Amino acid sequence: MQKKRLLSGIKPTGSPHIGNYFGMMKQLVDMQGDYEVFAMVADYHALNTIQNADEMQKLTKEIVIDYLAVGLDPKKITLFKQSDITEHTELTWIFDNLVTVPFLQRAHAFKDAEAKGKEISVGVFNYPVLMAADILLYDTDVVPVGSDQKQHIEYTRDIAQKFNNVFEETFKLPTEKIIESVATVQGIDGRKMSKSYNNTIGIFDTDEEIKKKVMSIVTDSSGELPQNVYNIHKLFRNESELKPIYENLKGKYKDIKEKLAEDIINYFTPMKERREKFANNERLIKKVLKNGAKTASRIAKAKMDDVKTKIGVI
Ligand code: AMP
Repeated sequence: MQKKRLLSGIKPTGSPHIGNYFGMMKQLVDMQGDYEVFAMVADYHALNTIQNADEMQKLTKEIVIDYLAVGLDPKKITLFKQSDITEHTELTWIFDNLVTVPFLQRAHAFKDAEAKGKEISVGVFNYPVLMAADILLYDTDVVPVGSDQKQHIEYTRDIAQKFNNVFEETFKLPTEKIIESVATVQGIDGRKMSKSYNNTIGIFDTDEEIKKKVMSIVTDSSGELPQNVYNIHKLFRNESELKPIYENLKGKYKDIKEKLAEDIINYFTPMKERREKFANNERLIKKVLKNGAKTASRIAKAKMDDVKTKIGVI
């Protein structure tokens, strides 16, 4: 039986945090045997914030190493860079002629940026369309993401349907895979963990950094247990294990936090060690991306030929 196809991506905007790991990266690792996995480095999506060539180069290499370090096996999956496959931006332009401005104005990310009075680039406004192209080019079945991306997958389906209705049945409608327990991983301040909130715990942070960040988790003494600490702890141990720990250490927030820091450190240490082995291996990074681009390009090109035939430009 043909394996279902899975695609997801991460922007090279800095070292991944626990939210990226549980929301998306771990799912790719866990599913790489049973699905045909496409892991994308979303460098064109990152261009909105990374506007320096050296930085872009460096962060892109690092995210490839991060993907390998968390356990993605390039022999089993296709790891590729978005900008290597020109069909992503080409298809975006075609979709741009099918979607309307009010449709994109309803996107949460756009509305948030607008509410904060931020200057919004056309790229940010158009982000959901590029993301639809990323997914639809590969006839993707499943997109594992955190809940912040749910609306973007809905947009992807709407755009696919629009194209299919205007032209002919061309695109498969993908579904998001959001695991309830990790849909929104909390940061150290209790809000969603996000690089832009500066409330993250990085999966490759040093032990000292992890301890420091865990110690600064905002606690509230009014409840039965320090909820913000517990919510992060739940990612590393099941609740039947956690209950006695929290009962024994009731009220001793410092001890509880030390336990959490220890659990985080133990969990990520093997990945950190693997990361050290891969870091600076320029040849490996180049080889992985080259092979990934070859596979991705073959599929994307065939799909684009089909699209171009359907719209009548070839
Ligand atoms: P990004 O850093 O925006 O490229 O996000 C990469 C992936 O991580 C996306 O699938 C997000 O949905 C997921 N993600 C980011 N932050 C969180 C979070 N706090 N909880 C769960 N998933 C997250």
